[in-house]
Amino acid sequence: MSMDRREFLKIAGFSTIGIGVGWILSRPGEFLEASQFLQTKELLKAKQWAMVVDMRRFKTEEDYRKVIDACHKIHNVPDFGNPKDEIKWIWADTFEHAFPGQENEFMPESMKHKPFILLCNHCENPPCVRVCPTKATFKRKDGITMQDLHRCIGCRYCMAACPFGARSFNYRDPRPAIKEPNPEYPTRMIGVVEKCTFCEERLAKGQIPACVEASNGALTFGDIADPNSEVRRLLNTNYTIRRKAELGTRPVVYYILDIPTSVVSGGESNA
Ligand code: SF4
Ligand code: SF4
Ligand code: SF4
Repeated sequence: MSMDRREFLKIAGFSTIGIGVGWILSRPGEFLEASQFLQTKELLKAKQWAMVVDMRRFKTEEDYRKVIDACHKIHNVPDFGNPKDEIKWIWADTFEHAFPGQENEFMPESMKHKPFILLCNHCENPPCVRVCPTKATFKRKDGITMQDLHRCIGCRYCMAACPFGARSFNYRDPRPAIKEPNPEYPTRMIGVVEKCTFCEERLAKGQIPACVEASNGALTFGDIADPNSEVRRLLNTNYTIRRKAELGTRPVVYYILDIPTSVVSGGESNA
């Protein structure tokens, strides 16, 4: 783990002038290396973290809003108010966009138009990690695909490689667009890529992810390698799908679909 940005620039023979400047993860008066605050006594541990999104529990706009707001507020995710500059760690989009190629003209209308909660899939085989030249994107042993903003030089290779649109680039200074800055979490600078980190900073304090906490049971987080975990129970007792599983990135975010009862009881079991 060893290549910080300065070393990378030295090895690559770049001058610091003209290279992306958004590599500093900071809060007022302080510079933090993401990996510095991970090893704590309270750290929640897992062999492989995973999440289950129960779409049956997303009924109202408020159900969506509260999980998205919980994440974006505590992580100082800016809101520029336009899609061009949008930074998103967790968001909602239609079945068609979330699961392209899996829609068909006969699927229930309620599903076709239902927004799905989306975030980084923390893929077991993540292309974003393979292409990152500075190791700013790396895989933790517990399955979290991490983003170390100290090392990010803003080349955006990871954005091109991620087939899920899970990464955002700060084209503008994000700080003026943060309505209520959370002093407990670093803000970013122009020129870095950012994304969901499975709330690694909360896991370090013994807390579950903020979106999970705010979801009233609609999101479940746990160790998929543990056969007694709640995520495993949900996977054992429900039919679940993953985004673009055919690409082989092996997402660990699973979706329980909201299939209308009439369809389930209407003899679709051999579909
Ligand atoms: S969803 Fe995208 S950013 Fe997240 S691990 Fe997979 S490839 Fe990387
Ligand atoms: S933009 Fe992405 S690929 Fe480039 S250094 Fe930053 S994390 Fe790595
Ligand atoms: S796991 Fe944490 S970082 Fe990821 S979307 Fe949920 S609240 Fe945001």
